[in-house]
Amino acid sequence: MELLAKNRNRDARVGLSLFSLLLLAYIWGSTYYQLLDAKNEAIQTAQKDARNYARTIEEHTIRTLQTADQAALFVSEHYLVSGLRFDLLSYMKSGIILGDILNQVSIVDQKGELALSNLPMKKTNLADREHIRVHMEKDLGQLFVSKPVLGRISQKWSLQMTRRINHADGSFNGVAVVSVDPFYFTRFYDEINLGKHGTVTMFGEDGIVRARRDGKSAEVGQDLSKGMIFKAALANGSGDMRSTSVVDGKERLFSYRKIKNYPLYVAAAIGIEDALAPYQTRKIEALRLSLIASLLIIAFSVFVIAMVGRLQRSEQHALSANAAKTSLLHDLELQKDELKASSDRLDTIVQNAADAIITTNDRGDIESFNHSAESIFACSAKDLLGRNMQQLTPTLQAGSWKLLEAGVLGVVEGVRNGGAVFPLEITTSKVHVLGQDKFILIARDITERRKVERLQQEFVSTVSHELRTPLTAIRGSLGLVAGGVTGVLPVQAATLVKMAYTNTERLTQLINDLLDVQKLESGLLSLTQVSCNLAKLIDEARDVNQAFATRLEVNIALHNPTPDVQVNVDAGRFQQVMANLLSNACKYSNQGDTVMIATKLLASDRIRIAVSDRGPGISEEFRERIFQKFSQQDSSDTKAKGGSGLGLSISKAIVNQMGGEIGYHSTIGEGSSFYVDFPVYSG
Ligand code: ADP
Repeated sequence: MELLAKNRNRDARVGLSLFSLLLLAYIWGSTYYQLLDAKNEAIQTAQKDARNYARTIEEHTIRTLQTADQAALFVSEHYLVSGLRFDLLSYMKSGIILGDILNQVSIVDQKGELALSNLPMKKTNLADREHIRVHMEKDLGQLFVSKPVLGRISQKWSLQMTRRINHADGSFNGVAVVSVDPFYFTRFYDEINLGKHGTVTMFGEDGIVRARRDGKSAEVGQDLSKGMIFKAALANGSGDMRSTSVVDGKERLFSYRKIKNYPLYVAAAIGIEDALAPYQTRKIEALRLSLIASLLIIAFSVFVIAMVGRLQRSEQHALSANAAKTSLLHDLELQKDELKASSDRLDTIVQNAADAIITTNDRGDIESFNHSAESIFACSAKDLLGRNMQQLTPTLQAGSWKLLEAGVLGVVEGVRNGGAVFPLEITTSKVHVLGQDKFILIARDITERRKVERLQQEFVSTVSHELRTPLTAIRGSLGLVAGGVTGVLPVQAATLVKMAYTNTERLTQLINDLLDVQKLESGLLSLTQVSCNLAKLIDEARDVNQAFATRLEVNIALHNPTPDVQVNVDAGRFQQVMANLLSNACKYSNQGDTVMIATKLLASDRIRIAVSDRGPGISEEFRERIFQKFSQQDSSDTKAKGGSGLGLSISKAIVNQMGGEIGYHSTIGEGSSFYVDFPVYSG
């Protein structure tokens, strides 16, 4: 899935890149071809202009030549008629001969001598000059145009245009010479726009320039015979050509034309730079536009590709988020299954538990229960659901059942469907579920247990009574025998009788203890609590137990005078507790030690009576068991010190029943201090 999306986005990017490249190629391709077109067009336009100019120059040249020829013909005619009498100067001045075109008009006689001239002249033979010689040699029948010559007197360049003068018989009679300013031909240059590098040229069939004009100068006499233009002109007469000038090496668009009936050519040329100038402007503009368009396309593509990239990333995020979600859902599913399995297990355990397990809201309305609940209360499921716990345990005050702390057992009366009452032991615990207090009740029908307990108690009670009665008789008899009532006993017999008497005492004590335990557990130990003076009680305890202490060579002493306070106790049971504490202290004291009884008023009107010894102390691991039934630190104590391990458990039950508390401090090797606290009785 992720791969698919990746490929798709890559394809989109590649596609877009290709499209952009194609677009760029199109833009630059079309720009290139347009510019090529524009260039060709510019060249063609310039070439056309050059052609038009060449035509115009051709006409101008023909007109000028015709004018010169007419002048030559005119003077020829007059020379034939008037000979040397021909007044050439007057004709020139009268304007019959156009003086502004012509530098000089003259006649050379048949010997080649300068015969007439509109300018002052001196005798000169010109027979060696080409423009004279050609006519002397043969009759050309047309105007001859010379190469430019520098006037010997005028120091000006001239084109000598000459025409042969014949006698009537056609023999050579002289030459009419018309000198034309060569630059008259190129004067036209100023009137047309050939651009910065344009030229106007007139050249002869001999390749020699008769007149040439470019932007900077007007010149004559250059030799074009090696140039392409000349060759093309010679070959074609008229035509167009792009070529490099042999004069200045510049490239131009030439248009050349043959002057009809004269051995002359004219050419107009436009510099290639000038021709291409508008194209160059357009080129820069087009390139700029193409560049801007390209940049825009690239920017757009980059932007779109970046967007696609972002899209891909966000798609990937979404995909990985989806994957994470799927795996989370999978995990959740697994957890759900596990939870269901564990809930099923729990449900099985709950349903099959021997105890009734009931949950209620904080008002005691039953919300769920197990099979045992149904059987204990003899109710069907539909009878139980929605009932209030008070209907099942009416002896509990409304709401008081929920005060039972978790772990504290409460025995209450349960009522079965049909009204039968039975003892029910309940444990409750409070839980907080979805913002609400709920209660879990574990209830056990203890009818059977009670029966067993009762049987057990009856047994113990019976056995104890049955044992105590004969034991009392044995003890009494042994006491009498030991006391010498039956006469003095032999020493060995006296020792044995004394041992028997002591053991009956211990047996009696054990039976008494067992009976007490049985009474305490069955709740049958009745106490008669009255206000007693504590000092009296303490003194009595010391006195009563001193004999026992003395036997162990231990002394009992008061640590401090007893405060004059009253306590609300059963005096007999109080003394039983004191006897237990004092006898333990004496038993675990070393010979010669003193067991101390200390009394101390505590805060909150309580009085503490502590019995301390300097014995071995209570070991760490025994401390939590010390008040349990039949527990002894070391079982060998039983033999060594005597005792059943019941004393402290009985004492604790008695003290608690009288509203007091029992406890101890002990340091191994240094001794122990057992204490009982009672509220001071104020009446
Ligand atoms: P017992 O009848 O065995 O004395 P108790 O319940 O009175 O039974 O005492 C339980 C055990 O506590 C004793 O066996 C003894 O190991 C230990 N014990 C009680 N008092 C002391 C004491 N003052 N010093 C050391 N150990 C004591």
